[in-house]
Amino acid sequence: MASYFHDGIQLYLNEMMDWDEYFRFRKGDDCDVESERAALVGVLETCAEICQEMEPASREHYHLAAELVDGEVVLPPHVQEFYDRLKDAGLVSLSIREEYGGFDLPAMVNNLVLQMASRSNASMMTIVGLQSGVATDIQKYASPELCERFLPAFASGDTQGAMDLTEPQAGSDLGSITTRATEEGGRYFLDGQKIFITNGGAEIHLVLARDDDNFDKSKGTTKGLSLYICPRHNEDGSKNGVFVERLEHKMGIHGSPTAVIRFEHAEAFQIGTKGDGFKAMLDLMNNARLGVAAQGIGIAEAALEEAIRYSRERKQFGVAIGDQPLMKNMLARMTLDVEGSRAILYRCIALLDRNESIKAYLDREKNLSEGERAELQAVMDRNNVRIRLLTPLAKYLGTEASDRVSRMAIQVFGGLGFMAESNPGKLHLDAIITTIYEGTSEIQVSFALKEIGKGALSIVFEELQKELGELKSENLTEYADKVRKGIDRIGEAAGALMQDFSYALICSRLVSEMVISVVVGTELLRQADVRPERFDLAASWVNRTMVELEALAQRVSSGGVERIERCEKIIALMD
Ligand SMILES: Cc1cc2nc3c(=O)[nH]c(=O)nc-3n(C[C@H](O)[C@H](O)[C@H](O)COP(=O)(O)OP(=O)(O)OC[C@H]3O[C@@H](n4cnc5c(N)ncnc54)[C@H](O)[C@@H]3O)c2cc1C
Repeated sequence: MASYFHDGIQLYLNEMMDWDEYFRFRKGDDCDVESERAALVGVLETCAEICQEMEPASREHYHLAAELVDGEVVLPPHVQEFYDRLKDAGLVSLSIREEYGGFDLPAMVNNLVLQMASRSNASMMTIVGLQSGVATDIQKYASPELCERFLPAFASGDTQGAMDLTEPQAGSDLGSITTRATEEGGRYFLDGQKIFITNGGAEIHLVLARDDDNFDKSKGTTKGLSLYICPRHNEDGSKNGVFVERLEHKMGIHGSPTAVIRFEHAEAFQIGTKGDGFKAMLDLMNNARLGVAAQGIGIAEAALEEAIRYSRERKQFGVAIGDQPLMKNMLARMTLDVEGSRAILYRCIALLDRNESIKAYLDREKNLSEGERAELQAVMDRNNVRIRLLTPLAKYLGTEASDRVSRMAIQVFGGLGFMAESNPGKLHLDAIITTIYEGTSEIQVSFALKEIGKGALSIVFEELQKELGELKSENLTEYADKVRKGIDRIGEAAGALMQDFSYALICSRLVSEMVISVVVGTELLRQADVRPERFDLAASWVNRTMVELEALAQRVSSGGVERIERCEKIIALMD
C-alpha cells in the first residue's frame, strides 16, 4: 500500500509552506521553527500509521451502519475503534488552543489529518471533521466562560459535535429555517426539527435557529438567525430536550450516523452576534467545505491506488490492462484530477494559515507602527478575497473529482468493479455525498460567481501573475505563458458575462472550471519548480485545461439569456 504520508503531502510540509514566517508570527522570534515543524511531521506520521492500519477493517465492514439503541446512537465497532485510536493518540480537535487543552495546530495539518482519515474510512472522517469544526466555531464565537465549559472535552476527545442547519423545507435555502429560539428570563430555549444531521448522537449541537422576537418579520431570510450551542445534557447531568428521532438508511458512508433531531424546549447558549448567526455559521461551513474537499480527495486517492494496483495485476490480450494506451490515459487523467484538487485546496489552506499567523502577530505586537500594521492588514484583506473565491472552488473540484475518479476506478476493474464487495464501488458510493452536503456543487459554483461579481478575479489574477513571474525553471516558461493567456481569456469572457446575472448563473459552472484551471495550473507549476519530477504533471494539466478553457470561454462569450429559454424548450419535449 502506498504511504498515506506521501510526497504530495511532504512537499507542502517541507517546501511549499513558509513555516519560518508562520511560526515566528504565531509564537515570536525566539520560537524553534525546526522543532515546531518536526512536531507537525510527527503528528502526520502517527496519523498516517493509524489510518493505514484501519483501512482493511474499513473496507471489510463497509456495509455496517450506525444504529439507534434506546435513543442513543451506537457506531459500528470498526468505526468506534478507529475513533478511539485517533483519540488515544491525541489526534482529534487539533485546532483548539492550548489554554483549553488543545494543540493549536495549523489548519493545513488539521486538513491533512481529515484527508488521511477519509482515505481510510470516509464515515469516520465525518465524525472527527465535525468535532474539530464545531470546536473551532465555539472557540471563535463563544464567550470565554462557554469555551471553558465546552472545549476541554472536545480537546480530549470525550465530546463530539454536530452541526444542525437543515430542515425539511430548508436545504440549500437556509433562509427558510423555522426552528425557533425563545428567550425566557435571559435563557434561550429551542423548539423545532432538523434533518440529515451527521453524528446527530453527539453531545454538542451547534444549531442555527430563528429568534422568536423577530420570527415573522425575518422569515424567509438569513437575517434573524442566531447560532446556539445546545448540549444533550444539562450541567447537572440531567437530559436536555434534544432527541434523536431516527437514523437514515443511505447509499454510502454507512458508518456515519445521519439523524433526524427534535428540539423540545431545549436549553441553548447563544454565541456570536444575535440575529447574525448565519455569518458565524458560514465560517463553520467554509471550514467544513475545506474538510469535505479533503474528504473527497481522501476517497479519490484510495480509488486511484486501487485502480493503479489492479491495472498492473489484471492481464488481458496477454498484457497488463495498465499497459493499454487508453488505460494509461485514464489513469493519468485520474491522477491529474487528484493532484489538481490537492493543489487548489492546499493553496487555499496555506492562505488561511498565513492570515491566522498574521492576526496572531498583530494581536501580540502592540508596538508596531501604524504603517506596518496597515501593510499586514492589507495582505490579510487580499488573502481573504482569495480565500472566499478559492473555498467554494476547492470544494467543487475536490468532490466532483472524487466522484469522477472513483467512478473511473470501477471502470478499470471492469465487471469486478460492479460487484457489491468491490472496493472502488464502496468508494464511489461514499464519494457521491461529498458533492451534496456542505452545499451542493451547484451552490458552490454560484457562491464562486458571487465572489467574481464582487471583483475577486482582479486580486486572484494579480497574485497568480506574480507567482508565475517568480518561477525559476526555464522549462516552465512556455507553460506559464499558456496560463497567462488563459487568465486573459477568462478576463474577456467574464467581463461580458457580468452584464446579465441570470445568464451568468447558467454559466457559473463553466466560469468556475475556467478559474480552477488557471489557479491549479499555477500551483502545479510552482510545485514543479521545486520538484522537477512533477514537471509532466504540471505540463499535462496546463496543456489539457488551456485547450478546454478556450472552448469554455467561447461558449460563455457566444450565448446570452436566451439560452435559458432554449433550456426550457428542450425540457418541455419531455412533457
Ligand atoms: C448524508 C447527509 C449528511 C448530511 N449532514 C448534514 C449535517 O450534518 N448538518 C446539516 O445541517 N445538514 C446536513 N445534510 C444536509 C445537506 O447539507 C443538504 O442535503 C444539502 O445542503 C442540500 O439540500 P437539500 O437536500 O434540501 O437539497 P435542495 O436544496 O432541495 O437541492 C436539490 C437540488 O437543487 C439544486 N439547487 C438548489 N438551489 C439551487 C440554486 N439556487 N441554484 C442551482 N441549483 C440549486 C441543488 O444543487 C440540488 O441539486 C446532510 C445530508 C446528507 C444526505
